Amino acid sequence: MAPLIGVTATLKEDGDAVAERPLGRYVRTDFDYVDGVAEAGGVPVILPPLAGSLAAETIAGTLDGLLLSGGSDLHPSYYGQEPIPELNVTVPERDAFEMELLKHVLLRGIPIFGICRGMQVLNVALGGTLYQDLSSQMEGVVLLGHRQETPKWQPKHEVEVNAGSQIAGIMGSSELKVNSYHHQAVRDLAPGLVTVAHSPDGVAEAVEYRDLSERWILGVQWHAEAMRTSGPEHRNLFSAHVEAAEHHALRRAAA
Ligand code: MN
Repeated sequence: MAPLIGVTATLKEDGDAVAERPLGRYVRTDFDYVDGVAEAGGVPVILPPLAGSLAAETIAGTLDGLLLSGGSDLHPSYYGQEPIPELNVTVPERDAFEMELLKHVLLRGIPIFGICRGMQVLNVALGGTLYQDLSSQMEGVVLLGHRQETPKWQPKHEVEVNAGSQIAGIMGSSELKVNSYHHQAVRDLAPGLVTVAHSPDGVAEAVEYRDLSERWILGVQWHAEAMRTSGPEHRNLFSAHVEAAEHHALRRAAA
Protein backbone atom coordinates (compact mmCIF):
# COMPACT_ATOMS: atom_id res chain seq x y z
CA MET A 1 0.00 0.00 0.00
CA ALA A 2 1.21 3.50 -0.81
CA PRO A 3 0.88 6.12 1.92
CA LEU A 4 -2.16 8.38 1.83
CA ILE A 5 -1.15 12.06 1.88
CA GLY A 6 -3.78 14.70 2.61
CA VAL A 7 -3.34 17.93 0.63
CA THR A 8 -5.05 21.04 1.99
CA ALA A 9 -7.11 23.21 -0.33
CA THR A 10 -8.93 26.50 -0.39
CA LEU A 11 -12.42 27.69 -1.21
CA LYS A 12 -12.51 29.79 -4.31
CA GLU A 13 -15.43 31.69 -5.73
CA ASP A 14 -15.53 31.07 -9.41
CA GLY A 15 -17.86 31.24 -12.37
CA ASP A 16 -17.78 29.18 -15.52
CA ALA A 17 -18.19 31.44 -18.52
CA VAL A 18 -18.25 28.59 -21.02
CA ALA A 19 -21.01 26.62 -19.36
CA GLU A 20 -22.65 29.88 -18.27
CA ARG A 21 -22.89 28.57 -14.77
CA PRO A 22 -23.41 31.17 -12.07
CA LEU A 23 -20.75 32.01 -9.52
CA GLY A 24 -20.19 29.11 -7.15
CA ARG A 25 -17.71 28.07 -4.49
CA TYR A 26 -15.11 25.50 -5.43
CA VAL A 27 -12.52 23.49 -3.53
CA ARG A 28 -9.23 24.29 -5.21
CA THR A 29 -5.57 23.38 -4.91
CA ASP A 30 -2.66 23.68 -7.33
CA PHE A 31 -2.13 20.40 -9.18
CA ASP A 32 1.65 20.74 -8.63
CA TYR A 33 1.12 19.64 -4.99
CA VAL A 34 -0.88 16.63 -6.11
CA ASP A 35 1.70 15.78 -8.78
CA GLY A 36 4.60 16.25 -6.36
CA VAL A 37 3.12 13.73 -3.91
CA ALA A 38 2.18 11.24 -6.64
CA GLU A 39 5.64 11.43 -8.28
CA ALA A 40 7.19 10.67 -4.90
CA GLY A 41 5.07 7.51 -4.58
CA GLY A 42 2.33 8.79 -2.27
CA VAL A 43 -1.40 8.80 -2.95
CA PRO A 44 -2.63 12.38 -2.66
CA VAL A 45 -6.14 13.19 -1.43
CA ILE A 46 -7.45 16.75 -1.53
CA LEU A 47 -8.99 17.80 1.75
CA PRO A 48 -11.93 20.21 1.57
CA PRO A 49 -12.10 22.80 4.38
CA LEU A 50 -14.82 21.20 6.50
CA ALA A 51 -16.32 22.67 9.64
CA GLY A 52 -16.16 20.96 12.99
CA SER A 53 -13.82 18.89 15.10
CA LEU A 54 -15.39 15.56 14.14
CA ALA A 55 -14.58 15.99 10.45
CA ALA A 56 -10.99 17.03 11.20
CA GLU A 57 -10.48 14.15 13.61
CA THR A 58 -11.99 11.62 11.20
CA ILE A 59 -9.77 12.80 8.36
CA ALA A 60 -6.65 12.79 10.56
CA GLY A 61 -7.46 9.18 11.45
CA THR A 62 -7.14 8.15 7.79
CA LEU A 63 -3.92 9.97 6.87
CA ASP A 64 -0.33 8.74 6.76
CA GLY A 65 1.00 12.20 5.90
CA LEU A 66 -0.19 15.80 5.57
CA LEU A 67 0.89 18.38 3.02
CA LEU A 68 -0.11 21.92 4.02
CA SER A 69 -0.36 23.85 0.76
CA GLY A 70 0.21 27.55 0.14
CA GLY A 71 -2.43 30.25 -0.19
CA SER A 72 -4.13 33.10 1.61
CA ASP A 73 -3.01 34.79 4.84
CA LEU A 74 -3.85 33.07 8.11
CA HIS A 75 -6.06 35.29 10.27
CA PRO A 76 -3.84 36.82 12.99
CA SER A 77 -6.40 36.03 15.72
CA TYR A 78 -4.84 32.53 15.67
CA TYR A 79 -1.68 34.06 17.12
CA GLY A 80 -3.42 36.59 19.33
CA GLN A 81 -3.17 39.70 17.15
CA GLU A 82 -5.52 42.18 15.52
CA PRO A 83 -5.26 42.45 11.74
CA ILE A 84 -3.12 45.32 10.40
CA PRO A 85 -4.22 47.14 7.21
CA GLU A 86 -1.55 45.33 5.15
CA LEU A 87 -3.07 41.92 5.88
CA ASN A 88 -4.39 40.30 2.71
CA VAL A 89 -7.52 38.26 2.17
CA THR A 90 -8.21 35.47 4.65
CA VAL A 91 -10.49 32.45 4.18
CA PRO A 92 -12.12 31.73 7.57
CA GLU A 93 -13.28 28.21 6.65
CA ARG A 94 -9.80 27.22 5.54
CA ASP A 95 -8.09 28.71 8.60
CA ALA A 96 -10.49 26.99 11.00
CA PHE A 97 -10.23 23.60 9.29
CA GLU A 98 -6.44 23.58 9.05
CA MET A 99 -5.95 24.63 12.67
CA GLU A 100 -8.41 21.97 13.85
CA LEU A 101 -6.89 19.32 11.56
CA LEU A 102 -3.39 20.12 12.81
CA LYS A 103 -4.44 19.47 16.42
CA HIS A 104 -5.36 15.90 15.53
CA VAL A 105 -2.50 15.37 13.08
CA LEU A 106 0.06 16.53 15.68
CA LEU A 107 -1.47 14.29 18.35
CA ARG A 108 -1.10 11.29 16.06
CA GLY A 109 2.48 12.10 15.04
CA ILE A 110 1.59 12.16 11.34
CA PRO A 111 4.48 13.50 9.19
CA ILE A 112 3.78 17.08 8.07
CA PHE A 113 5.24 19.01 5.17
CA GLY A 114 4.27 22.71 5.07
CA ILE A 115 4.78 24.89 2.02
CA CYS A 116 4.61 28.74 2.12
CA ARG A 117 1.36 29.44 4.02
CA GLY A 118 1.67 25.82 5.17
CA MET A 119 4.95 26.54 6.96
CA GLN A 120 3.34 29.58 8.58
CA VAL A 121 0.21 27.69 9.69
CA LEU A 122 2.45 24.99 11.15
CA ASN A 123 4.38 27.55 13.20
CA VAL A 124 1.16 29.10 14.53
CA ALA A 125 -0.44 25.72 15.33
CA LEU A 126 2.63 24.90 17.44
CA GLY A 127 2.45 28.25 19.26
CA GLY A 128 4.47 30.68 17.14
CA THR A 129 3.60 34.01 15.48
CA LEU A 130 3.93 35.59 12.03
CA TYR A 131 4.82 38.87 10.43
CA GLN A 132 1.45 39.91 9.02
CA ASP A 133 3.35 41.89 6.41
CA LEU A 134 7.12 41.80 6.05
CA SER A 135 7.66 45.23 4.50
CA SER A 136 5.66 47.05 7.18
CA GLN A 137 6.69 44.95 10.20
CA MET A 138 10.25 43.71 9.71
CA GLU A 139 12.08 46.84 10.77
CA GLY A 140 15.70 47.77 10.27
CA VAL A 141 16.17 45.41 7.37
CA VAL A 142 16.47 46.00 3.65
CA LEU A 143 14.23 43.26 2.36
CA LEU A 144 14.92 41.31 -0.78
CA GLY A 145 11.99 41.01 -3.10
CA HIS A 146 10.00 38.10 -1.73
CA ARG A 147 7.51 38.47 -4.57
CA GLN A 148 8.08 37.61 -8.19
CA GLU A 149 6.34 38.19 -11.49
CA THR A 150 8.62 35.72 -13.28
CA PRO A 151 7.54 32.10 -13.88
CA LYS A 152 7.09 30.11 -10.71
CA TRP A 153 9.80 27.55 -11.45
CA GLN A 154 12.41 30.33 -11.65
CA PRO A 155 14.36 31.24 -8.52
CA LYS A 156 14.03 34.72 -7.02
CA HIS A 157 16.53 34.76 -4.16
CA GLU A 158 19.19 32.72 -2.43
CA VAL A 159 18.71 30.72 0.72
CA GLU A 160 21.37 29.55 3.11
CA VAL A 161 20.58 26.20 4.68
CA ASN A 162 22.15 25.27 8.03
CA ALA A 163 24.73 22.55 7.56
CA GLY A 164 23.79 19.45 9.48
CA SER A 165 20.05 20.18 9.36
CA GLN A 166 17.58 17.57 8.21
CA ILE A 167 16.66 19.68 5.21
CA ALA A 168 20.31 20.07 4.15
CA GLY A 169 20.56 16.29 4.14
CA ILE A 170 17.35 15.89 2.16
CA MET A 171 18.19 18.54 -0.43
CA GLY A 172 21.88 17.69 -0.57
CA SER A 173 22.87 21.33 -0.63
CA SER A 174 23.43 24.20 1.78
CA GLU A 175 23.07 26.96 -0.81
CA LEU A 176 19.88 27.12 -2.79
CA LYS A 177 18.07 29.47 -5.10
CA VAL A 178 14.34 29.50 -4.53
CA ASN A 179 11.20 31.17 -5.82
CA SER A 180 9.37 33.59 -3.53
CA TYR A 181 5.67 34.45 -3.28
CA HIS A 182 5.08 35.68 0.24
CA HIS A 183 4.53 38.95 2.08
CA GLN A 184 4.31 37.18 5.44
CA ALA A 185 6.85 35.06 7.30
CA VAL A 186 7.56 33.29 10.57
CA ARG A 187 8.23 35.82 13.37
CA ASP A 188 8.44 34.14 16.80
CA LEU A 189 9.32 30.51 16.37
CA ALA A 190 7.08 27.91 18.02
CA PRO A 191 8.55 25.72 20.78
CA GLY A 192 10.16 22.66 19.18
CA LEU A 193 10.69 24.30 15.79
CA VAL A 194 14.13 25.36 14.59
CA THR A 195 14.79 27.76 11.73
CA VAL A 196 17.15 25.92 9.42
CA ALA A 197 17.28 28.24 6.41
CA HIS A 198 17.34 32.00 5.88
CA SER A 199 17.36 34.34 2.94
CA PRO A 200 20.25 36.87 3.01
CA ASP A 201 17.94 39.51 4.60
CA GLY A 202 17.26 37.24 7.57
CA VAL A 203 13.78 36.02 6.69
CA ALA A 204 13.09 32.45 7.87
CA GLU A 205 12.83 30.24 4.80
CA ALA A 206 12.66 26.75 6.34
CA VAL A 207 11.83 25.19 9.71
CA GLU A 208 12.02 21.70 11.14
CA TYR A 209 10.85 20.10 14.35
CA ARG A 210 13.34 18.70 16.80
CA ASP A 211 12.40 16.77 19.87
CA LEU A 212 12.83 13.29 21.26
CA SER A 213 9.74 11.94 19.49
CA GLU A 214 11.54 12.09 16.12
CA ARG A 215 8.40 13.34 14.46
CA TRP A 216 8.85 14.37 10.84
CA ILE A 217 7.72 17.99 10.58
CA LEU A 218 9.26 20.28 8.02
CA GLY A 219 8.27 23.58 6.43
CA VAL A 220 9.64 25.63 3.55
CA GLN A 221 8.71 29.20 2.70
CA TRP A 222 9.25 28.77 -1.04
CA HIS A 223 6.99 26.92 -3.46
CA ALA A 224 8.96 23.69 -3.74
CA GLU A 225 6.10 22.08 -5.68
CA ALA A 226 6.62 24.55 -8.53
CA MET A 227 10.42 24.00 -8.64
CA ARG A 228 10.35 20.22 -9.04
CA THR A 229 11.46 20.47 -12.65
CA SER A 230 14.42 22.76 -11.87
CA GLY A 231 16.43 20.15 -9.99
CA PRO A 232 16.18 17.02 -7.87
CA GLU A 233 16.61 18.86 -4.56
CA HIS A 234 13.01 20.12 -4.49
CA ARG A 235 11.61 16.72 -5.50
CA ASN A 236 13.67 15.24 -2.66
CA LEU A 237 11.51 17.13 -0.15
CA PHE A 238 8.41 15.34 -1.45
CA SER A 239 10.21 11.98 -1.46
CA ALA A 240 11.40 12.45 2.12
CA HIS A 241 7.87 13.32 3.25
CA VAL A 242 6.33 10.32 1.50
CA GLU A 243 9.02 8.07 2.97
CA ALA A 244 8.29 9.38 6.47
CA ALA A 245 4.58 8.77 5.83
CA GLU A 246 5.38 5.16 4.81
CA HIS A 247 7.23 4.63 8.08
CA HIS A 248 4.36 6.16 10.01
CA ALA A 249 1.88 3.85 8.25
CA LEU A 250 4.00 0.81 9.15
CA ARG A 251 4.25 1.88 12.79
CA ARG A 252 0.52 2.49 12.88
CA ALA A 253 -0.20 -0.94 11.38
CA ALA A 254 2.08 -2.60 13.93
CA ALA A 255 0.51 -0.80 16.90
MN1 MN B 1 11.28 34.36 0.16
